[in-house]
Amino acid sequence: MSEILNNCIRSINKAKKLKNLNILIKDTFDLALNQAEKSHERFLKNTPASKLDGKTFSIKDNISTKSITTTCGSKMLDNYVPPYNATVSEKLLNSGSVLIGKTNMDEFGMGSASSSYYGTVKNPYNVLKDSLDQNLDDFYISGGSSGGSAASVASGMVEFSIGSDTGGSVRNPASICGCIGYKPTYGLISRHGLIPLNNYFDTIGIMTRTTDTLVDVLNELAGPDPKDATTLKTNFKKISLEDKISLNQITIGVPKEFFPNGLSQSNLEAWKHSVGIFDKIGNAKIISVSLPNVTYSMSCYSVLTSCEVASNFSKFDGLRFGHHSELNLDINKVDQMDYNLEQVIKKNRDESLGQVVRSRIATGNYFLLKNNYEKYFVKSHQIKQMIVNDFIKVFNQCDLLITPTCFNDTLLYSDYMKQNEVFDEKDFFTSCANIAGVPAISVPSIMSKNNLPVGVQLIAKWKRDDLLLNIANWFVKNNSLNHLNDIKFLDKF
Ligand code: GLN
Repeated sequence: MSEILNNCIRSINKAKKLKNLNILIKDTFDLALNQAEKSHERFLKNTPASKLDGKTFSIKDNISTKSITTTCGSKMLDNYVPPYNATVSEKLLNSGSVLIGKTNMDEFGMGSASSSYYGTVKNPYNVLKDSLDQNLDDFYISGGSSGGSAASVASGMVEFSIGSDTGGSVRNPASICGCIGYKPTYGLISRHGLIPLNNYFDTIGIMTRTTDTLVDVLNELAGPDPKDATTLKTNFKKISLEDKISLNQITIGVPKEFFPNGLSQSNLEAWKHSVGIFDKIGNAKIISVSLPNVTYSMSCYSVLTSCEVASNFSKFDGLRFGHHSELNLDINKVDQMDYNLEQVIKKNRDESLGQVVRSRIATGNYFLLKNNYEKYFVKSHQIKQMIVNDFIKVFNQCDLLITPTCFNDTLLYSDYMKQNEVFDEKDFFTSCANIAGVPAISVPSIMSKNNLPVGVQLIAKWKRDDLLLNIANWFVKNNSLNHLNDIKFLDKF
């Protein structure tokens, strides 16, 4: 049998085997087999469509796929079948890549556990923890909101996955599932067809096990798109990874604001270990730097995200889009009907949206009230600019920043649920890169004492994705965690 078909069947079998991890909301196995067949024919004729031809992938379920449900993990969009492809979906299908399924996520991208109407994604590392098997109600989470994408890559189900990152949703699960998660410069990859969370901060992100695959995917996806006015206007120059780069001339900044209370021992250790690699093996110059206004990132992020959510969600009323309640209206008693339009919308939303989404709609509308607008919305935009300026200044002193990605390695679901927050303060390390629009990546750094993966974050200057990915590539090659992309290790799952 052909190598490509074999690879596709292996992916499908793994997806079936891991069904109870809740990684996929919708599988596309028939489509995949069909695509693999066509890909095989192209290879026989020696005419592959691209470097990605025949590679298996998954897409987060808030990215539109023509004729394939796109639910955003919500009952609100349970039956929604987009009539068009997002630009990224279109490009990937044209590239010959083989789609295995749509991945589970936190409802509309809000949260950090990939817990949705369709269940909660379990971290693939759960299967290594026999003790947990005794307690079926508890398990390690995969992070979020692109936790399904991270788990699909980390478990070896697919070769790459497409997620979305608004405040850290690609980097956070990558860190705790043990894969690479990259958020590009804002506007480098088209957002057309991504169902928005916060239009100012949303980016399409890429998750892989190797930097080579990551760059191949980016080279396929990046570039201006007439369907997304916020894409960068200049043509994208394909990135190539240099085999041998010297870090002698590179300066790496360690921001002094990034030592908050509550940072776990394993994340501190991962951070120190990674700085050590740049210092000892790379001979890079390491300096301490300051971004004074990043301490306001989470306040800025939560106000602006709530405001965008309030505005973006007005269309989900169950009349134009989304879940429509069965009201059992008796048309013979129309005059005595209990419901007016407002109540119908309320019922549609009550039945189909989770607590976090509803809270954000409510707070966003509060911030946007005439009397609050200046105090919250305008003020947060001013703070956003101050954070942008901090990043501009800091990159006059160094080429790259190194920070933790997360506060913890993965949490038990029961512990995550105790947090009960509408916004997760723990997005602190990641959200500032979205606010500033700069590129950032989480790469695996160490295995914790509990034998769970812990990542570290690298952040580069606006539009220096090439530098970021080259240095990330250098780091991955010089850090000895090769088992994470060893397919045999992953096949144990
Ligand atoms: N935890 C963030 C939030 O809930 C994640 C957002 C994201 O990047 N999609 O808003």
